[in-house]
This record gives sequence, C-alpha cells and structure tokens, in this order.
Amino acid sequence: MSIAAEAPRAAWDDEYDVIVLGAGAGGMTAALIAAIEGARTLLIEKTSRIGGTTARSSGTVWIPDNPEQRRRGISGDAASARTYLQALAGDRADASMIEAFLAAGPLMLDYLEQHAHVRFRCYEHAPDYRQEFAGAAQGGRPLEPLPFDGRTLGKDFERVGTPLPELMLLGGMMVTRGEAAQLVRSTHSLKACMLGVRLLLRYGVDRLRFRRGTRLVLGNALAARLYSGLLGRGVPVWFDAVTEALVDEDDAISGLIVEHGGQRLRLRARCGVILAGGGFPSNALMRERYLPQPVAQYTPATEGCVGDTLDLALDAGATLGTVGADNALWFPSSITRRADGSTAVYPHIVLDRAKPGLVAVNRAGKRFVNEAVSYHEFVRAMYRSQRVVQTIPALLVCDRRFLWKYGLGLIRPMTPRLAPYIDQGYLKIGETLEDLARTVDVDPGGLVATVAQNNRDAATGVDTEFGKGTSSYDRANGDASHRPNPCIGPISEPPFYAVAVVPTPLGTSLGLLTNAAAQVCRAHGQPIRGLYACGNDMHSAFGGEYPGAGAQIGQAMTFAYLAVKDAVGAQQRSAPVADPAPVNRRAPQPPSRLVPTSRVPSGSVR
Ligand SMILES: Cc1cc2nc3c(=O)[nH]c(=O)nc-3n(C[C@H](O)[C@H](O)[C@H](O)COP(=O)(O)OP(=O)(O)OC[C@H]3O[C@@H](n4cnc5c(N)ncnc54)[C@H](O)[C@@H]3O)c2cc1C
Repeated sequence: MSIAAEAPRAAWDDEYDVIVLGAGAGGMTAALIAAIEGARTLLIEKTSRIGGTTARSSGTVWIPDNPEQRRRGISGDAASARTYLQALAGDRADASMIEAFLAAGPLMLDYLEQHAHVRFRCYEHAPDYRQEFAGAAQGGRPLEPLPFDGRTLGKDFERVGTPLPELMLLGGMMVTRGEAAQLVRSTHSLKACMLGVRLLLRYGVDRLRFRRGTRLVLGNALAARLYSGLLGRGVPVWFDAVTEALVDEDDAISGLIVEHGGQRLRLRARCGVILAGGGFPSNALMRERYLPQPVAQYTPATEGCVGDTLDLALDAGATLGTVGADNALWFPSSITRRADGSTAVYPHIVLDRAKPGLVAVNRAGKRFVNEAVSYHEFVRAMYRSQRVVQTIPALLVCDRRFLWKYGLGLIRPMTPRLAPYIDQGYLKIGETLEDLARTVDVDPGGLVATVAQNNRDAATGVDTEFGKGTSSYDRANGDASHRPNPCIGPISEPPFYAVAVVPTPLGTSLGLLTNAAAQVCRAHGQPIRGLYACGNDMHSAFGGEYPGAGAQIGQAMTFAYLAVKDAVGAQQRSAPVADPAPVNRRAPQPPSRLVPTSRVPSGSVR
C-alpha cells in the first residue's frame, strides 16, 4: 500500500534529484556521478561509516576493454569478453545485462577518471578465473585502485570503514598484493628492503596521529577516494539513517521516509532512488533461506549488508532474480577468535592454496578439488563433495617447510612462534600425517595415501587427479620459482599442519531483478519508475558466476553509472559540472529545508 492511498499527499520535508541508499562502491559511485551531473544528491548510509564491504575488499574492478588496456594498445577485448561471459554464464545471465556491462564499463571508468580523478592501474598478470572457457583473458581486465592518502580527508578519515584487521600488517598498515610479495623477499633484495623501510616509516609517523595507517590501498583506497569526491562536491552523507519505506505514487517511486538525527522525514527524489545496500551476506536468516546447506555461519562482508534495501524494494513491488544453486559468491575462510572476543573470518583468496606443497582434503582424507582454482570454485567443490562425504569444513594440509615459506591463512611466512595459533586451536599439528589426521578427525589412511600421491605428482609435475597447475590462473598464484609445476610440491618435512576452512559468502549474487538500465523490475519485467539498484542489491548480471578478479565491484560501479544515466537522463540540466576543488574542499550547501517530524505523515508505504 502506498502513502498516497492512505493519506492525502503530504508535503515533502526536502527534495533531491537522486537519493542513494548505501555508501559502498555502488552507492558512492552513483552519488558521485549524480552530483557531477548536477543532480541534487543525498547519500544515506545506515551505519556510521562509509565503505561497506568495499572498504574491506581488494578493490579490484574487472572491466574488459578498459582505458588502461587501450593505453597499452590492446583493443577489441569486448568481443572476447562477450564470448567468455556468454560461455560462462549460459542462460543464467540475460544477454542484455552482459551487453550493458560491456558497453558501459569502460565509459564509467573514463567518466570517473575525467570528472573525479578516480583512477586505476592494471594488474600486471591476472588471468581470468575460468581459463577453460573461450574468451578468457590472461590479464588486463582486472584493475587495481591507486593508493589514496587518507590524511587528505582530515577528520573525515575516521568515517572510512576499516579493512579486515587480519589483512593489515602490524595492526593497521595496508599493503598491496604486489608489495606483500616483495616484502617477503626483503631479506634477499635491497629494493624490497627499502620498500619495507619506507612503508614502516610512513606507518610510524601515521600512528603518532591516527588509529591506523593513512596510506590506503585496495578497496579502502577506492572507498576513500569516492568519499573524497563526494565531500569535495558537497554531497550530504547521512550516517546512522534508517530508511523506513519507499514512497510509491502513481506506480512510481517518488521518494522515501527516513529516520535521521531524531527526525522522521519524507524526502522526495525527483529522478530516482538508487538502492546499493550490498545484498544480504550478513543476514543469518536470509542465508538460511537462500544459501546451500550446510548454511554458512560466517561472512567477511560488513554487518550492514543484511538485505533491508531488498525488503524496501520487494515491498514496493519488486522481485528477486532467479534463485540459483549458490546465490552467493564464495571465499573459503578460516575462523578464529580475536583477542577482543570478536570473530575473525580470514579469506583464503590467493596467498596459500595454489602454492606448491598443500592439499585440501575432506573427512576421508581425500582431495576433492584442484586447490588452485578460484575461491568461488573452491567452495562450490566443497559443496559438491559434501554430498558424498563430509567436506565442510575442509582441511588445508601442509608441512613445516611450506608453512615457513608461504604461510597458511592467518599465519604469515616466516612466523617464528606458532604456539599462539596452536593453542587457540586455529593451527592443528601432527608429528606424523597419521597424528595430524587423528587430531582433525580425518581418515589417517586416506590422508597418508593422498599425500603419497601428491609427492609422486610433485616429482613429475603432473596432478593426475585434478590437473592442478595446468591453467595460467593456477600458475599465476603458484610459486614461479618452483619446478616442474609451480603449484605442486612435496609434503614431507614434519611436523605437518592443517587449518580448517568453511564456505563464507563474500557477497550475494541473488538480488533485485533489474533491466539493463539498472531499473528495478516487477515480476514480469516491467520497470518500477524511479527505482534503481546496483552492487550486490542488483541480481548478478553474470548469473552468479565469477569471471575474474574484480567482477563484483566492476559490476557495482558500472550499473551505478547506468542507473544515474537513466535517472537523470530525462531531467539532465546541463553538461557535467566541472570538478570543483581539490579533495575535501566542501562546496556550499543549499540551506536545509527540513521540517519538524510532526509534518511527516504516518503510515507505511510498504
Ligand atoms: C575480503 C574481501 C575482498 C574482496 N575483494 C574484492 C575485489 O577485489 N573485487 C571485487 O569485485 N569484489 C571483492 N569483494 C566483494 C566486494 O567487496 C563486494 O561484492 C562489493 O564491495 C559490494 O559492493 P556494494 O556497493 O554492493 O556494497 P557494500 O560495499 O557492502 O556497501 C553497502 C553499504 O550499504 C549500507 N547499507 C545497507 N543497507 C542500507 C540501508 N537500508 N540504508 C542505507 N545504507 C545501507 C551498508 O552499511 C554498506 O555500507 C571482496 C570481498 C571481501 C570480503
């Protein structure tokens, strides 16, 4: 029922052109572009920080045919990306969504670079995840955000969500994947050593004034840079604001009702409301309802992503996309307790699984997957194997040499003291493989046989069971200096170790059905005027598949661009407004026209 049906049309407490819900990559991109387009824009965030899961992420964006590729003389990538996405997603994805993504992704990047100084650089070598499909690239599509200096945000730096503590060094220093790889070599390389010294000096100075390092990289750099663009353009960001309902007038969404700063306000959105609440990975009930069994108990996503933006839309007549087998994108994660009692969810993304000298086994002590596949495919394999034998949790098994050289989960390379991890129960140890197997409740005979086969394969370089190390994606995360196969090494030097991993959704792929303009649709595909979705609130344009690093944020930002383009397109007043100022200089705000809550009509529009 709509407010219009319940009460005479009430006055608006304030009017905007575009109102965005959620300050992650999707929402901040939408709000920033809307502001650049000259739209009066409001960004509503329900927590007290910007960034959402984006601020915890690696910040990679997967955009085929991107400007960085073109600068390097690579053209025509859209055609092979189309082939790849169609082969990968099949009929689970709508071809028009893929077309929209391919066409708009590069435009979005060009636009943000030109108008908001949001820039990325190429990952040198980042093959797509599913090399078995035609059109998969060897690199170039994933882009990494440039570092950002958090100090330029002044006091607003405190508003930037923090990365996962376990993915920072020394309790607050961020490093890129490339820097981490260099730092491991700092005892052997002067260049790496100098890098370490520079990073440490900067971090030391930072800690005199800030709670964490201010040299931001990865997803934190992306979130902070988008936020800085919003501040620079004077876009109001309302924190701790709870949106109660969307206002539906004449079959179109014309605004919303929000509680903010002790007031209940009825806000008009002349061009549209854009939902970017990050899906529902943190909602235990929705995980139970939509995710496969056994249901994931943990997630590395932020606590704000509980699907209430989806509820707002569903109550306004929207529908979800087609429910699939996963409905989530996956990380295998190990779990432990932090000193403060909170739960640490450590995603095993690329640092350990593909390195030589590790096997992943189920309760029978048997391998069930090529350990080097993408995190999403690894978890899918856990669920497949679970149908036959218990594989959740699965065990990552290695020996002393591996642990020292490559680390395992939370345990970094060259960690001298393992006792704290063992005492916590995070790291399991056995002087023999049989001991280890009994400790982790795995069949000893199975594990011994598996490791024996692994050691034979390590000598020949051929994984006779799962073909580990045959694809360029596997090898990119292996150890290039290891021969004959960079992903297979012997497990032979006691003691032996194991860490348990469980499926954890990094995000959800089941979201609101939209069309190629990011308009939220009703069950039969008619768009709801004035309502848009992007990021994990939008149903995956790739049918829930994970084509390569950055596929989530790449989609989020691209469909944010398309949403704004459609929303403000009809009412476009002028050419983009020139970038006003260096970071953090606030543009003057129009005087507030907010009125006391007594003027807000009661009743729900749900
Ligand atoms: C460790 C890690 C690494 C990752 N690395 C990558 C990567 O490199 N590349 C990639 O593509 N993906 C990556 N992902 C996944 C990616 O981070 C997310 O899929 C993506 O950030 C989602 O973006 P979003 O804008 O949809 O949501 P988010 O970034 O989660 O933002 C949603 C925001 O909306 C807010 N919100 C929720 N409900 C409301 C409401 N009702 N009103 C107002 N605000 C609301 C939330 O509080 C939150 O701030 C990673 C994930 C993790 C956990």
